[in-house]
Amino acid sequence: MTDHSTDVAIIGAGPVGLFAVFECGMLKMRCHVFDALAMTGGQCAALYPEKPIYDIPGYPRIGAAALIDRLEEQAAPFKPVFHLGQSVETVAHAGDGGFLLVTGTGTRVTARAVIIAAGVGAFGPNRPPLAGLAAFEGRSVFYLVRRREDFRGKRVVIAGGGDSAVDWVLERVMVVHRRAKFRAAPESAARLQRLADEGRIDLVIPYQLHALEGAGSQLSHVVVADLDGVTKRLAADALLAFFGLATNLGPIGQWGLALERNHVVVDPATAQTSLPGVFAIGDISTYPNKLKLILSGFAEAAMAAHAIYPLVHPGEALHFEYSTTMGVPGI
Ligand SMILES: Cc1cc2nc3c(=O)[nH]c(=O)nc-3n(C[C@H](O)[C@H](O)[C@H](O)COP(=O)(O)OP(=O)(O)OC[C@H]3O[C@@H](n4cnc5c(N)ncnc54)[C@H](O)[C@@H]3O)c2cc1C
Repeated sequence: MTDHSTDVAIIGAGPVGLFAVFECGMLKMRCHVFDALAMTGGQCAALYPEKPIYDIPGYPRIGAAALIDRLEEQAAPFKPVFHLGQSVETVAHAGDGGFLLVTGTGTRVTARAVIIAAGVGAFGPNRPPLAGLAAFEGRSVFYLVRRREDFRGKRVVIAGGGDSAVDWVLERVMVVHRRAKFRAAPESAARLQRLADEGRIDLVIPYQLHALEGAGSQLSHVVVADLDGVTKRLAADALLAFFGLATNLGPIGQWGLALERNHVVVDPATAQTSLPGVFAIGDISTYPNKLKLILSGFAEAAMAAHAIYPLVHPGEALHFEYSTTMGVPGI
């Protein structure tokens, strides 16, 4: 028994998956959209919501979270059904020539076609190897931060040397890094050094995380160790551990699709994978000279929608029309 049936199932509610809802909608195809995260927006929302993006056509500068808001607004007339906080675990042929998707929480959806817009795959943070870490997660240890305001006034230890670590620096912050040099963009690293010189933050380098102390799920101290193993205790309310994302294809690797270095191989003319009826767009897909940019993903979404049309509307000719001519049709 299935819970739902739709025209197109889209795996991934990042910018590219959201735009695919619009492109499918313009061709009168209904969509269900799945994301393992509890929110839409993919990398834009989870990794850099407050950063400006400069290469979205028509927007000289737009914040990543604002771009996601605009994409949701553009998709809304087509009434997509979202299944958030649910990872798609299996995609299999359904008896009628379509596909059956099943999520980790047991939701079952049949669809005529599948679009995989799963970015870097199932999102997972690189966790530091610390005893008792799980008890603090979500309460005082975080890997992704949507709003820096949540941490205002708290004693925050930030660990990691990449852009995320540097970008979230506020006040009463200690930044722990195992090297004196930061991997972040040069201007971010320079800003960090300036804040340290002004005494507004403490750089704890070269140190690495050693242990966590606290009661229940509330952290009281982060213990760090230098290269000789000498430790010191930093009083802290929260630890932001920014060691990057584990890029793991997750269940997608088990679906029998042709893969190349953890990416799904597609025909660049249609975005179709090696499995007819299953398409891949955005960061997850690969073809010669692929550019991993949001704008390439948008174009791939349009190509996939056109290639899917005959699967959803068999025997109906597709007459190419500009949006200016057709408007935004209801669905
Ligand atoms: C710091 C930073 C700055 C960037 N700046 C720019 C920029 O200026 N310009 C630009 O063009 N690009 C930029 N990018 C890259 C851009 O964010 C990506 O190209 C874009 O997010 C790809 O979109 P996507 O929809 O393909 O995938 P994603 O945004 O990765 O979204 C994929 C979604 O799929 C979900 N998913 C994966 N597997 C499953 C599953 N099995 N079931 C359910 N859900 C699943 C994930 O949870 C995720 O939410 C930047 C990236 C970073 C990290």
